[in-house]
Amino acid sequence: MISRRVDSMGRIVIPQEMRDKLGITHDTLMDINLRGNKIELKKSGLTCAVCGRRGEMLDDTGVCISCAENIAAKFMEGFSKEA
Ligand SMILES: [Zn+2]
Repeated sequence: MISRRVDSMGRIVIPQEMRDKLGITHDTLMDINLRGNKIELKKSGLTCAVCGRRGEMLDDTGVCISCAENIAAKFMEGFSKEA
């Protein structure tokens, strides 16, 4: 384990050897998730199954937050028409 201090901007440097091992370079998009009391950092390789854009995904659904919200809104719209 390697310990690093968080700077005044909340940033932390990922050790070079870890970046090299995972192919993380300047400008690599990273996913950041809070899991309980741990922060999980993951190289983002995911594109949304609906819109095809890269962005913040809704957990492991393969759908981005924006599309998930649109799907939920359409679902609720349909649901209210049936009532
Ligand atoms: Zn999407």
